[in-house]
Amino acid sequence: MSAQPRMPTESGTPDHFQYLHPVMKRNYGQWAWHERPRPGVLHHVSRTGDQVWTVRAGTQRQMDVHTIRKLCDIADKYADGYVRFTIRSNIEFMVADEAKVKPLIEALTKEGFPIGGTGNSVSMISHTQGWLHCDIPGTDASGVVKSLMDVLHQEFINENMPNRVKITTSCCQINCGGQGDIAINVQHTKPPKINHDLVANLCERPSVVARCPVAAIRPAMVNGRPSLEVDERKCICCGACYPPCPPMQINDPEHSKIAIWVGGKNSNARSKPSLHKLVAAGIPNNPPRWPEAAAVVKKILAVYKQDAHAWERMGEWVERIGWPRFFELTELPFTKFHVDNWRGARASLNTSAHVRF
Ligand code: SF4
Ligand code: SF4
Repeated sequence: MSAQPRMPTESGTPDHFQYLHPVMKRNYGQWAWHERPRPGVLHHVSRTGDQVWTVRAGTQRQMDVHTIRKLCDIADKYADGYVRFTIRSNIEFMVADEAKVKPLIEALTKEGFPIGGTGNSVSMISHTQGWLHCDIPGTDASGVVKSLMDVLHQEFINENMPNRVKITTSCCQINCGGQGDIAINVQHTKPPKINHDLVANLCERPSVVARCPVAAIRPAMVNGRPSLEVDERKCICCGACYPPCPPMQINDPEHSKIAIWVGGKNSNARSKPSLHKLVAAGIPNNPPRWPEAAAVVKKILAVYKQDAHAWERMGEWVERIGWPRFFELTELPFTKFHVDNWRGARASLNTSAHVRF
């Protein structure tokens, strides 16, 4: 009996070629050179002589169906029906005819979508799901992004920064937030409060105990029922116990704060990737506009813009001038909490390649 052919599994990302603009598909691997005629517009020229213009616009990422329809109508009318999203939730429209670029820009601008995010601008902030999609956020990262991008609008539509600026946000302290030139992350400041009545019904206690990076959780009997207890002297308020055990409530309107980190970089361009460092902590988690967090970010960006050399990324600039000078220039207070003297990690957290569940 012949072996049955192994059928493809219907999961994973689809083949992206089917979504490419025909000119991009035809010239795949053939691009000779490119330029940016203005902020938010890329012009690529192929060895075959074909050309394509890409217009990049900012979106709010968490979009309602009306906004998506509006963007699709613009794509149908001006861009042959093709769009794509960048990893920072910018939307890009591709056109093969230069004459279509200006009307496309006008249509997007008229509908309130800013054109920019290319080159040395502050591109759209990459952010996590927030209250809309996730079950453990301590803030709404999407809301932080909207408020910040409103105040950074001029930096998005112009390319006036020394180098590109990538900002990230994260709505809990442990999961999705990536390294960024500036990162805006939740910071819990108190250990979890345990609802002992619910632990036995909802939590798999050994998993919760194993989850704690500093072994601060122990099984315990409370009021005759199996529960958990936390050694608060050890707890580093990371929040890792809350996802597998919601009765270990760590989110708190007053004690869950925002922290700002600076100098992270994912790319290998010019210098090695780097980890960002804490520069401001205990900032109020203040929806709906987060003015205190926005003020700190604006201040850091203003100083970076003024003081960095051309093409220095944020972390490279700080490395050159030194952290003391960074705190002087930004007028951010330097406290003992900025010093990473935690003895529980050999160098710092998460240096192991092991994935833990
Ligand atoms: S950062 Fe945390 S809270 Fe936010 S979406 Fe990711 S896992 Fe959820
Ligand atoms: S918040 Fe983090 S350190 Fe504290 S008990 Fe939970 S898992 Fe452990």
